Amino acid sequence: APVIVAIDGPSGTGKSSTSRAVATALGLSYLDTGAQYRAITWWMLTNDVDVNDPAAVAAAAHKPAIVSGTNPAAPGITADGVDATGPIRTQEVTAAVSAVSAVPEIRAQLTELQRRIAVEAETGIVVEGRDIGTTVLPDADLKVFLTASPEARAARRSGELRGADGAAKPDLAGTQAALLQRDSADSSRTTSPLRQAGDALEVDTTELTLEQVVECVVTLIRE
Ligand code: C5P
Repeated sequence: APVIVAIDGPSGTGKSSTSRAVATALGLSYLDTGAQYRAITWWMLTNDVDVNDPAAVAAAAHKPAIVSGTNPAAPGITADGVDATGPIRTQEVTAAVSAVSAVPEIRAQLTELQRRIAVEAETGIVVEGRDIGTTVLPDADLKVFLTASPEARAARRSGELRGADGAAKPDLAGTQAALLQRDSADSSRTTSPLRQAGDALEVDTTELTLEQVVECVVTLIRE
């Protein structure tokens, strides 16, 4: 069967960059499950669903059709046919996504979609997220759990962020606080929290370059 690779971990550990580069190097498809949670959140925000009301979020869970691009070179995403690739990276979405992701109806819906995409990927696939190795694809051929120090994660994340006008970057301390808060919410929710699977291989990326992490994961897949 085509290879299935699960890459989990908190934000700022290099999950997306690593997953895309590994998929590209090995000719595999790529699925960003965080982008799916972000796309549903963006749709809720733009359709006036109160994201802090779990009942309202649950009632709307099935409304937007989420379609994920699986090309690691250009993984776009649409919600209800509308391109959400850019808007899902805004601070508004980032601040609201953990609350939406904690709603069981949202997770059930996206978990099913993620399994379908993984099974249908004829070339094999790299799937990145928080609960891929534990819940979505417990039978994945390889499970990697990426970690990094809070300082390294905040530095990477603030390097990715741009101010709304493309100028000022948010300060490092604020970025680190927001990131730790999101991890804590993702780790403490009751339905499939962020967690390392028992059979996942942990890679601490704090002192590694992206190239080194990619080489490490590619080697593990080939073994
Ligand atoms: O990976 P990214 O930072 O884009 O993920 C955004 C959010 O989506 C996470 O903070 C988490 O709340 C949620 N998520 C999740 N399960 C996944 C992937 C992402 O709950 N498998």
